[in-house]
Amino acid sequence: MESLTKMKTIRLSKSCIGGSEKKAVMCALKSEFLGMGSQVEEFEIALSVFFGRPAVCVTNGTAALQLALQACGIGENDEVLVQSLTYVASFQAISAVGAKPISCDINETSLTIDLRDAERRLSSKTKAIMPVHYAGDVGDLSGVYEFASKYGLRVIEDAAHAFGSVYQGIRVGGFGDVACFSFDGIKNITSGEGGCIVTSDPTVLQKVMDARLLGVHKDTERRFRGERSWEFDVSSQGWRYHMSNIMAAIGIEQIKKFDHFAKRRQELANLYDLELENLPNLEIFKRDYSLVVPHIYPVRIPNLKNRGELQNLLMRHGIQTGIHYQPNHLLSFYKEASALPLKTTNKIFPELISLPLHPDLTSKNVKFICKTLKELLSSKE
Ligand SMILES: *Cc1c(COP(=O)(O)O)cnc(C)c1O
Repeated sequence: MESLTKMKTIRLSKSCIGGSEKKAVMCALKSEFLGMGSQVEEFEIALSVFFGRPAVCVTNGTAALQLALQACGIGENDEVLVQSLTYVASFQAISAVGAKPISCDINETSLTIDLRDAERRLSSKTKAIMPVHYAGDVGDLSGVYEFASKYGLRVIEDAAHAFGSVYQGIRVGGFGDVACFSFDGIKNITSGEGGCIVTSDPTVLQKVMDARLLGVHKDTERRFRGERSWEFDVSSQGWRYHMSNIMAAIGIEQIKKFDHFAKRRQELANLYDLELENLPNLEIFKRDYSLVVPHIYPVRIPNLKNRGELQNLLMRHGIQTGIHYQPNHLLSFYKEASALPLKTTNKIFPELISLPLHPDLTSKNVKFICKTLKELLSSKE
């Protein structure tokens, strides 16, 4: 038997990079045009074909959310409804435009925003709702759109987990108001770092295209032709949030592999479900993996007293795990003493643990992980 120290750790998540990405990066380097140019344009075209709507690439998913909010006119004195159980990126993007994130509770089954709870947190300042497609699952997204139209809100979807997921027959991003994706190293596809905004709103498109290049009017068109803007006007706050050709080169290769990545993630999540369903001391989150492309695989262990200890024990067996997420309403920067309690979030988050999921994981890995987890759980009883 392999000694524990020699055993290779099963990583929680990782990039899956092959020869074609390496070759594409070398090619971009050789061109000695590393900024935003033809590779970014090519990646945007590939994404627009994928979604059936225009996509604008930026430096990461957080920047995508920030620019989308800004382009929708959300800023000082505005409030945005968002679930507390999300990556801090969703919250930082909202506060970056000067608006206030309003922490909302979640549904116990999908871990997506609870609209009845959100309704109680509406105020005259509420301008938008940011649904987070947790683990790739959009939850009741048509409910979100009905809610938004009832209260006159913009919808900025944090679709960082949901690249490739399908809802009502259409890919996430292919419908609705504005959807933002992330291509960081561990997402469903990666460009190293990167993100995009997908929408059919021409005003939002023009604004995010300018805002990613310091607000320089129409700079995107010139850069795609390999030119620069020497004389220009700026009429709003912009940022250095454009994507570079090096990142786009990786993204172009990754999107070609999407079908393979998606299938692997779906097969592995189905296998986890099969191995872990109907256990007395563990709950899985039932999702339809013919539609959802899962970014993470969290499970719930009711009444789990010491998650850290369980994580350490799993680590000793070479299994890395994660927590998605520590709720944002507990962070010093976002704490709101007077806010209504978040009952479900507070109850569930200490019981969540995410198991490894990435396309290079094998079925054997998944079976080993499940066997180890089951043994550890039953020995604790
Ligand atoms: C990854 C992620 C983001 C932000 O993406 P970056 O590219 O890392 O900036 C936003 N929201 C959620 C839920 C994420 O998982």
